[in-house]
Amino acid sequence: MARREDTQSLKCPQCGTTGVAIYEENETPPHHQGRLDRKLIDIEGEFKAGLGYDPEIYCARCEIKVS
Ligand SMILES: [Zn+2]
Repeated sequence: MARREDTQSLKCPQCGTTGVAIYEENETPPHHQGRLDRKLIDIEGEFKAGLGYDPEIYCARCEIKVS
């Protein structure tokens, strides 16, 4: 199974702080309809994640959703 890292830029629309979410993607074989499984493995910056495998990300200052 191929694995790669993917990053997503984060920016809070309220306070303007920026960061990066780092995901690990597992590419499933084509007969599984090419679906990507994405797992959050790290966050850089003043953000925090909710619970779950692919959680929503919140600004740690403002508590608002940024993803
Ligand atoms: Zn904020």
